[in-house]
Amino acid sequence: MSAQLRALVILALALMRSLVARVSGRPTGLPLFLENYRDDRLPPVGPDDRDAMPAFSGCVACGLCDRGEGERIAASRGEYPGLMRLVLASSRSMPDFDAAARALAHVPDAVLAEKEAVCPTSIPFRRLARFVRDKASPAL
Ligand code: SF4
Repeated sequence: MSAQLRALVILALALMRSLVARVSGRPTGLPLFLENYRDDRLPPVGPDDRDAMPAFSGCVACGLCDRGEGERIAASRGEYPGLMRLVLASSRSMPDFDAAARALAHVPDAVLAEKEAVCPTSIPFRRLARFVRDKASPAL
């Protein structure tokens, strides 16, 4: 059997399985994704999320966004490690988004806007914070 024919057979079988699942009321598509990945805390991402995500990854670890954050870091009692570590670590791993959201709760949006102005790679801190909070939602 040629590779193309084999691929067509596999696709046809997958389509039939999916149609049977729908008719029988079993979850498919997004509900199935949510069911499969809820325990791993991996929420789905939509087209808007995918458009925004590349802008979150440009950090060059210059540390400028951590200037003036000492008081907030100390007051957070370990929840907030500073913006640079948020951008480089917990905000890059969806299962860690609940911790990232707790950390971001220590930084007002007005401060995030100020940090956007000093970041040399234009990390959109407010957009990143919204993304993290949305995906950390227990309403998964
Ligand atoms: S200012 Fe921007 S590039 Fe520098 S550490 Fe912060 S997020 Fe990264």
